Amino acid sequence: MARSDGSPCEIRLSGPDITEEEVEAVSAVLRSGRISLGPRLPEFERMVAHYAGCQHGVAVNSGTSALHLIVRALEIGEGDEVITTPFSFVASSNCLLFERAAPRFVDIDGSTLNINCDLIEAAITSRTKAILAVDVFGWPADWERLREIAGKYSLALIEDSCEALGARYRLRDGGWARAGSLGDVGTFAFYPNKQITSGEGGIVVTNDEKIAKLCRSMRNQGRDDGTDWGHPSRLGYNYRLSELHCALGIVQMKRIEEILARRNQVAAWYQEALSEIEGVQPPRATEEVEISWFVYAVRLTACRSRAELRRVFQGLRERGIACSNYFYPIHLLPLYREKFGYKRGDFPVAEAASRQSLALPFFNRLTREEVERVARCLREVLSEVDRHSAHSRRVAATGQ
Ligand SMILES: *Cc1c(COP(=O)(O)O)cnc(C)c1O
Repeated sequence: MARSDGSPCEIRLSGPDITEEEVEAVSAVLRSGRISLGPRLPEFERMVAHYAGCQHGVAVNSGTSALHLIVRALEIGEGDEVITTPFSFVASSNCLLFERAAPRFVDIDGSTLNINCDLIEAAITSRTKAILAVDVFGWPADWERLREIAGKYSLALIEDSCEALGARYRLRDGGWARAGSLGDVGTFAFYPNKQITSGEGGIVVTNDEKIAKLCRSMRNQGRDDGTDWGHPSRLGYNYRLSELHCALGIVQMKRIEEILARRNQVAAWYQEALSEIEGVQPPRATEEVEISWFVYAVRLTACRSRAELRRVFQGLRERGIACSNYFYPIHLLPLYREKFGYKRGDFPVAEAASRQSLALPFFNRLTREEVERVARCLREVLSEVDRHSAHSRRVAATGQ
């Protein structure tokens, strides 16, 4: 990301946390001569699946690929509808379009930013095959409600937990369950801005052996284990994850507790540094969830328009601070407007959240001083934008 004069921002938005151990592990694979389909793949899969509390893991080359394989494994296709959220990374809806299925969006809950379960039943039709809910920003959706609804209408339940590795959800019986294990099948992603990275990568996690077997086959050209390479059993893809990626992912998984603790620390610094700033609402966990921090997105409650939000972005970038708008509502992307006729106003809570959402620099090695600098700059920028807006309103009112 660059400032308006083209120079790079001094505090970047995100970045991987790579130690000598990762460098060594990847080098060892290079020296081994076996750089794809070796022993690291099942090792990495076992580690992530076990951590999430699932029996099976099928690692692939991205989170998007993982979602695509899930859609295929559940035989969701042309004419089918899947209930999902418009407030997410675009891949959680695009994976439906790959198979000519239609996303059926419902609005979100303004406080958790996750799908609003109260609105789901009204959106179910005879074509609905599944619910695909996202644990947005590492905050688990209301999975017990989702399971009830899915059970009542015999729908498959897909968990896009790509932003939520390590997050926990409190069950009604008082126990805790990890993100990824809360639907019929879950996914994690390992792009460098996620909790852990393998460079690129993703994984399907599930207790459903049939789904696991289909995904395992389809990631590797439709081959079944133990059969002739030249005779695939079904249509498949090359979604394989190399040993280099797996070696990197394994070391990151070994460090997961340390990594999540660092992220908690950075979030706590932010919470403190931002608490006094008017118009800034930091995310706050409830009793029902334990957030695994993915990004640090605050809500600018006084922000009235996209133009104002843009001025905040510009002000921060001019001060050397990278920032971003998580998320632009999926239903308002040109592709979705044209294909499905969605328009502004269809999902007002998601649209309002998007208009006020500001993701600040967030990564493991961010220091307390940097967090405090971000907070200082944000305070300055907000009062500047406020003055500018008040001035514009005065000009408009007096017609000068
Ligand atoms: C990151 C992410 C994905 C997958 O992303 P890839 O870049 O394909 O690994 C999917 N869904 C959500 C919500 C994500 O944040």
